[in-house]
Amino acid sequence: MKRLIEGGYVWDGRDRLIEDGAILIDGATIEAVLDRRERSRVEVPRGVERVDAAGTLAIPGLVNAHTHLYSSLARGLGLPGFSPTSFREILEGLWWKLDRVLDAESIRASALVGAMEAARCGVSTLIDHHASAHAIPGSLALFEDAVCREVGLRASLAYEVSDRDGAKAASQGIQENLDFLAAHGAADGVCAGLFGLHASFTLSDQTLAQVAERLPDGVGVHIHVAEGPEDEDDSTRHHQLRVVERLDRYELLRPASILAHCLHLDEREKDLVAERGAIVVTNPRSNMNNAVGAFDLPGFLGRGVLTGLGTDGLGANLLTELFTASILEKHERADPRAGGFDALHALLFENNPLVVERVFGVRVGRIAPGYQADLALLDYTPPTPLGVENVLGHLLFGIAVHDLHVSHLFVGGRPVLRDGRFVDLDQEVIYAHARDAAQKLWRRLA
Ligand SMILES: [Zn+2]
Repeated sequence: MKRLIEGGYVWDGRDRLIEDGAILIDGATIEAVLDRRERSRVEVPRGVERVDAAGTLAIPGLVNAHTHLYSSLARGLGLPGFSPTSFREILEGLWWKLDRVLDAESIRASALVGAMEAARCGVSTLIDHHASAHAIPGSLALFEDAVCREVGLRASLAYEVSDRDGAKAASQGIQENLDFLAAHGAADGVCAGLFGLHASFTLSDQTLAQVAERLPDGVGVHIHVAEGPEDEDDSTRHHQLRVVERLDRYELLRPASILAHCLHLDEREKDLVAERGAIVVTNPRSNMNNAVGAFDLPGFLGRGVLTGLGTDGLGANLLTELFTASILEKHERADPRAGGFDALHALLFENNPLVVERVFGVRVGRIAPGYQADLALLDYTPPTPLGVENVLGHLLFGIAVHDLHVSHLFVGGRPVLRDGRFVDLDQEVIYAHARDAAQKLWRRLA
């Protein structure tokens, strides 16, 4: 089926911005991008669905390179006496408690709500990291159904293996990843698998050795690395290795491996990540919220590490996340030149799409012929001149900080949102059910 999205601004994600442009989609891919003159010359054949995009700015669908949809039902949760003084206490007092009481109903509700909110923020691809210690088998399939089939986003799924809940949970986690990867051996470009690992400090040598032995060729791991100081302390104390060296010993630093955070790495570890060609994903708002430190953005970009951006489950708005990445850099370095547009563009509009290419094997991130038709149409009337040279300024200082409203979202050419509403889903019903599931979940935590 062909669709013609006409009118409005079209930014290709790189170096072309057209006013009053048009995008022709054929099935899952973009066939042509036309300017006003070309549009007037093209005769639109019958049967092509026409989408009125006047008053919008079309951008490539956004990618969240590290998130946890299982946290969706934690919004507003109050835990009596919870007053953490360290990152470990945040994990033990909140997230590890929450993941232990998730069941099939709350996993499904979390995945649906999380994916819908991502869609409403213009996100077309999610790279998720899931945990539900007492409901492991089949949990990734629940996610796949909710995120990829019902909402219609691309998703890379992984179960975070950990020894923190004992040997049975660790071995179930390993099996869940392997089963899911086996079922997705022939990647369809929509749902992909990574092998999930929680973090070095909750993984024994025996478990890591098993993972190394059973990890299929070419598959990457998705793991938290040195998010808090605990991870490096544990690794040096118990294994006489830095975290990255420990992962390298098990040959886990693969080109498709995602290392989230990497806040407390020393210079040698950064060199090793660069040498092995693994992916690093920064999550500035989560890091600030957990008071765990600031990411060395120039250090990783300068080494040529494929460095992407995620939200770590703290919201779904990648544009405000990018804005925060910038102001955190400036604040941390006391230098208003830090966190400049080149680095920001690289994070969200160049590197995150390259992460998708490595993990899913499809080309996204540009509104150009041959790319997947992953597009977000943002309602936007610029109050100042808008051109290719300042589009990032409009996205960050206009849309991100004032009003992000996604009018249409297409993923692989399929419409997910139309005029701000879900095409195939009843949001009221799903949210009412989520409130009910959240209430039951919170009762189990009390
Ligand atoms: Zn995380």
